[in-house]
Amino acid sequence: ATPTAIMVGTGRGAEMGVLFRKGTALELLARVDTVVLDKTGTVTRGRPELTDLVVVEGEEAEVLRRVAAAEARSEHPIAEAVVEAARARGLDLPEVAAFEAVPGYGIEAEVEGRRIQVGADRYMARLGIDLGPVAGRVEAWADAAKTPLYAAVDGRLAAALAVADPVKEGSREAVEALHRLGLAVAMVTGDHRRTAEAVARAVGIERVMAEVLPEHKAEEVRRLQAEGRRVAFVGDGINDAPALAQADVGVAIGTGTDVAIEAGDVILMSGDLRGIVNAVALARRTLRTIR
Ligand code: ADP
Ligand code: MG
Repeated sequence: ATPTAIMVGTGRGAEMGVLFRKGTALELLARVDTVVLDKTGTVTRGRPELTDLVVVEGEEAEVLRRVAAAEARSEHPIAEAVVEAARARGLDLPEVAAFEAVPGYGIEAEVEGRRIQVGADRYMARLGIDLGPVAGRVEAWADAAKTPLYAAVDGRLAAALAVADPVKEGSREAVEALHRLGLAVAMVTGDHRRTAEAVARAVGIERVMAEVLPEHKAEEVRRLQAEGRRVAFVGDGINDAPALAQADVGVAIGTGTDVAIEAGDVILMSGDLRGIVNAVALARRTLRTIR
């Protein structure tokens, strides 16, 4: 690789909003055969909205008030969706006495003397809470690409909720273009399997790793590398940093968290996934000129 070609390639990248942190990133990206995409905030907008709420015990506004109060202490995008929905209904959120986030599972808080637990089905399973009363409804939500959540009050199922996080403009086109470049495309997420599969279907991704705990995302990248693949990982979140570091090339979304941006070898300045297509094409062109 001649330093001049790398410099020119890096300069072209900057013009199109793709920052290569080091020259080797261009060379590595040219040789990648698999792209792994984080779901939330990378394939999707990362700004979910509450779309459904089914209360099985208690009064709806009361349940939403307490659940939203608990979520107001969480930084997860899902939490923001719940808080926003409560605010939109003009609900005043009560004080929270104690709060704990259980990464990859959900949250627990004490609100008005009640224990509020909100999270995924695996969280409720861990708490021994029976989801039978809402099972059918929840599967339909997940198949419609919505993320189902459950809320328990004092250890009893109180409500099921769904949030929807629309696919970003350009994600489907980007996946198609990556396929045309001969790359395999996979998606990794902590989300419900059926939700993840519905999102993957909508954008044409063929391989899905769902219900992956935050600390296991890098493990999934390592597994693909053990199959002999050269992997680019694209992500935006704090919990994507280890996977960005593990990948042959870590590609961070510039509109994402500082932690992800610091872990990236390549930064896509706009949130648009078509940036990764431009980056791979540019890297290949650059490498061809120097061979
Ligand atoms: P992702 O980044 O793919 O959404 P996470 O590991 O952050 O994955 O979350 C996995 C799942 O854990 C979420 O889909 C949700 O079901 C549950 N969860 C995490 N945090 C919260 C929260 N604050 N409120 C409700 N559910 C949560
Ligand atoms: Mg994300």
